[in-house]
Amino acid sequence: MAPVDESFNRYAPRMPKEPVLVIDGRRSFVAAWPPGAVCEECGVEQPRGGGYVGPVLGERVDYPKPDARYTCPPCARAKLGLGERELSGHMCQHCEDDSDLHIDGLRFLPGELDSMSDAERLEHVSAKYEYAERGWQVLEVESAPQLTAGTGVGWAVYFKAARQLW
Ligand SMILES: [Zn+2]
Ligand SMILES: [Zn+2]
Repeated sequence: MAPVDESFNRYAPRMPKEPVLVIDGRRSFVAAWPPGAVCEECGVEQPRGGGYVGPVLGERVDYPKPDARYTCPPCARAKLGLGERELSGHMCQHCEDDSDLHIDGLRFLPGELDSMSDAERLEHVSAKYEYAERGWQVLEVESAPQLTAGTGVGWAVYFKAARQLW
């Protein structure tokens, strides 16, 4: 097993399609690994699509990073007992860093949500986009006219992980 190349000098942004996880108490996200880095659980090297690196602050990791620990995505998910689809299907783009609250901007048919009560709206949106199946809990659905485009009426969906993972 080659040592991690600590002279590797560059930064790697977080890959937004994978959730940020707290693994063994360290905030970790998926990013490119430096040469020689291997998963501390299974020893896999350079997972395709990147692997978890932690501890990290903010939205990028700066190498060299001597305190970094590496976990491949399958090992990270197994460690936290995450189901196959749990915490999937969301890209943090307009969510606040380090917040548990996530936001999706979605478009619906004209009138689709208008006559519903708040509770019906939560249920409808959660079912239509399988939030519950993906391990999320929808908290609020709010009209978002700035997201309207063509015949799609914009709504903002606020949600969080359905269970406390750490
Ligand atoms: Zn692994
Ligand atoms: Zn998010």
